[in-house]
Amino acid sequence: MNSVFHIIVRRLSTQQNHYKLVVIGAGCGGLACASKLAKKLPKDSIAIIDKNDTHIYQPGWTLVGAGLKTAEELEKPQSQFIPQNTTWIQSYANKIEPEKNLVQLDDGRKISYEYLIVAAGIEMNFDKIKGAVDALDNDPQHVISIYTRKYVRNVFNTLNNFRGGQAIFTFPMMPIKCPGAPQKIMYLAEDLFRRNNVRDKITVMYNTSLPVIFGVKKYAAALMEIVKERNIQLNTRLNLVEVRAKSKEAIFENLDQPGTMKTFKYDVLHIGVPMQPFEFLAKSPLADANGFVDVVKETLQHKKFPNVFGIGDCTNIPTSKTAAAIAGSNSILVRNLSNLMFGTNHPVHKYDGYTSCPLVTGYNKCILAEFDFDGNPLETLPINQAKERRLSYILKKDVMPTMYWKMLITGNWNGPAVFRKLFRLGGAK
Ligand SMILES: Cc1cc2nc3c(=O)[nH]c(=O)nc-3n(C[C@H](O)[C@H](O)[C@H](O)COP(=O)(O)OP(=O)(O)OC[C@H]3O[C@@H](n4cnc5c(N)ncnc54)[C@H](O)[C@@H]3O)c2cc1C
Repeated sequence: MNSVFHIIVRRLSTQQNHYKLVVIGAGCGGLACASKLAKKLPKDSIAIIDKNDTHIYQPGWTLVGAGLKTAEELEKPQSQFIPQNTTWIQSYANKIEPEKNLVQLDDGRKISYEYLIVAAGIEMNFDKIKGAVDALDNDPQHVISIYTRKYVRNVFNTLNNFRGGQAIFTFPMMPIKCPGAPQKIMYLAEDLFRRNNVRDKITVMYNTSLPVIFGVKKYAAALMEIVKERNIQLNTRLNLVEVRAKSKEAIFENLDQPGTMKTFKYDVLHIGVPMQPFEFLAKSPLADANGFVDVVKETLQHKKFPNVFGIGDCTNIPTSKTAAAIAGSNSILVRNLSNLMFGTNHPVHKYDGYTSCPLVTGYNKCILAEFDFDGNPLETLPINQAKERRLSYILKKDVMPTMYWKMLITGNWNGPAVFRKLFRLGGAK
């Protein structure tokens, strides 16, 4: 009897439908903010909505593709990271009504809030490329992608067993998360082909929708040197629109002559997946014309609904969509939201657009790109980070994953600005 009573009480308590703060998404951005705010707010003030019960360290997928880590190493139970004293609602949000301060869940429940943080990430959509899903599912010896839990497991096998022919790596239309990833896996593959003594039998090609190899001049110049030195064929303004698995053909649209197609034969095709905002966000009053959560880029506060904030890949903040950007912006969001909640002030703290892209260029080297909203380098270390370095590789492979699990998503990491200041005080440029 007693235990039945307890079950009923627990059920009723998990049926709470109003929270001071609701967070949509328990990924990198949602957890970084919720973990910090859970330390400031009373018990049961925060609800975190996310159906996913596994948390994945997505930046590690590039390393899985290169055989440097296993996919399993990057996955942990979500329950370990939902902060204490918060309520985890294991559903997906499917509608937001910010005029009424309501979020509707996919099980029909409505949750009301005083404040909302939207951190739902971005949707990957291989269906935008005709034939891609079929090829990835049925021809994993030739068509691969590090982007997704399902396909990343095939990548290393395919690359490591490749003995000759044309290997094409594609970069889709923007926006995508971690725009460096499609070329990181290419450099790693190229290095692997050398290590396997088959490089001279393989043409390595990078076909990108962008007009340049990388958006920040300083790093683009360094990458162009590598591309030349390592005999990688670079084709710009090409967007993959179709994969013909039977004939091993990849069809690209020439973006400078819309409607004109160019066909390439491949033996290995690595697909950079097109992405889009989730439909429930794109259809909500929170979205801009492109479907992303429309926030003030410096304060992360919504432009129309002041009690709503956004962070990470789901927003229209004009910086590279990375976990690093979340490291650089989560404390800004938390401080601005706290100011509103505790009635002290309006949002005053400002995000500079800090983001980072550790461009792994081989099995022991990496260019550590760090920059702001305007593409100006914001380097942490007192060295030229555009140079390929083993130190940057170790940071990417060994240090950053630990920082992610132990500091970022647990609310204890505000990005490397503090080190920049320290190095400057120490006399570094
Ligand atoms: C291959 C690859 C390589 C990368 N490399 C790097 C790197 O080197 N450095 C770097 O800094 N970043 C890298 N990134 C990018 C980084 O992983 C993302 O930018 C970061 O995870 C974004 O965090 P987020 O919170 O916005 O989204 P996510 O971490 O994706 O979390 C979104 C969460 O929202 C949940 N969700 C989705 N829909 C709903 C809904 N309707 N209701 C409730 N919850 C929902 C999801 O289940 C998920 O848990 C890489 C990403 C990939 C894929």
